[in-house]
Amino acid sequence: MFMPHLAIILGIRPDVIRASIFLNMIRSDQRIKTTFIWSGQHYSDNLKDVFFRELEVKDPEIELGASGNNDAEVSSSIISKLYPVLEKIKPDAAMFLGDTNTVISCIAAAQLNIPIIHFEGLMRSYDWRMPEEKYRGINPKAIVIVTNPIVDILNKYYFDKKDFFIKLGDKNFFQSRKLEKDNYYVATWHRRENVHIENSVNSILNLLSKSPKKVYMPTSYRTQKVLKQMNLKIPNNVTVVDPVGYNEFLVLMTNSAGVITDSGTVVEETSVLGIPSLQMRKATERPQTYDSKSSVKFDPSKPEDYPSETIFKKLSHLANTKWEHNLGDGKASERIYLDVIDRLLNNKVSTHKREDYHLNTERSYREDGINIKE
Ligand code: UDP
Repeated sequence: MFMPHLAIILGIRPDVIRASIFLNMIRSDQRIKTTFIWSGQHYSDNLKDVFFRELEVKDPEIELGASGNNDAEVSSSIISKLYPVLEKIKPDAAMFLGDTNTVISCIAAAQLNIPIIHFEGLMRSYDWRMPEEKYRGINPKAIVIVTNPIVDILNKYYFDKKDFFIKLGDKNFFQSRKLEKDNYYVATWHRRENVHIENSVNSILNLLSKSPKKVYMPTSYRTQKVLKQMNLKIPNNVTVVDPVGYNEFLVLMTNSAGVITDSGTVVEETSVLGIPSLQMRKATERPQTYDSKSSVKFDPSKPEDYPSETIFKKLSHLANTKWEHNLGDGKASERIYLDVIDRLLNNKVSTHKREDYHLNTERSYREDGINIKE
């Protein structure tokens, strides 16, 4: 019997989180062969393996181990390492998630005529300084709308395991981190358009220094490196630590007075968890988090328009309000799974037939129009 083979190519921390439920569903489906390929964009234990363990995702079958010193090197390394792997395993479809350097390697699948499935939020910030923004855009006819899987992930890994998290967040947890439950902020920031612009780095550090509460900051390696290179002083009320695992981060978020971040996934999570967030971004692809009044805005490139006193007043105001999140119904992973299975089993993966295009294809398929007398 025909058994379709799906290659799934991922490469960064939030990929594992967002795809975890879908991955477990499809990898345990006996009708499908799956090969999970990790590009190597994130590779350390606390940005990668800890998420496999805590979300109970089996290790990837293949690790590409791609590397590089900038976006061009990383993405071209992934493309050139993925190509021979796909050529060898010949999957019936290759699946990618989001808008990362790993996704750009879909060009390897395209060159091999392997149909591509894109697990994607279609989010746009229209901020062209962002590397992700350059990777976005698609034929609307090839889109299946599923809502945001982060709701499913939090239902399964947080709300259904609340007792576990209450136990984990005991006295010792906070004492050993020198934090007082409910009386600190968690901060995380790593985006290129903040970290690589000295003025923005300064305005973020300045904002954090004005925080009326302690700030606990699991800090990405990129940000740590920049802070060292720029020789900047970390404000006294800010504790810098390495990135932490998902369980620890969930405890930190849910017992905090708010989360200060430039992460896209984190503002979705706080919105669902009912925790106030402060987005340190000029533009967001998640305006819904402002629609639901779960988030405060701070633009690091224009700090003068966002006085820290007002920002922290807003943040503590949110701590006393409730909102309904608007990110999904908790069934996104299942919808993706059912659709992918249906396409694979019924040979419906490719959407590049002429009738699949939303654009008028008449002229490309026209006849030559030359009449010759026989
Ligand atoms: N996260 C974590 N530990 C940390 C910081 C973040 O587990 O120290 C989680 C967070 O809850 C979210 C994801 O990692 O699910 C966000 O990753 P990141 O900020 O790298 O991604 P973005 O969404 O900005 O691309």
